[in-house]
Amino acid sequence: MAQASPYGTRRQCSRPTCSTAAVVTLTYEYRTSHVWLDLLSSERDPHSYDLCRQHANTLSVPRGWQLTDRQGFAFGHPSDAVHRAS
Ligand SMILES: [Zn+2]
Repeated sequence: MAQASPYGTRRQCSRPTCSTAAVVTLTYEYRTSHVWLDLLSSERDPHSYDLCRQHANTLSVPRGWQLTDRQGFAFGHPSDAVHRAS
């Protein structure tokens, strides 16, 4: 739900009931059953969703899917990446 504003593009969480500002971008790939969480991307991708902090933290993936949290990479701490299997 991109919104134009004088301060640039401000994006909201993709969850229908949530109007919090998005801080995380979720990307998925069916072929490999993989979901990635990254810091908010500068460009919208048709295969991505924007999520607020709370919804990113409470995200769960379908059974058989893998979730990789890559937000830590942006701060130069690759070891912070968390791998969670469903
Ligand atoms: Zn949200």
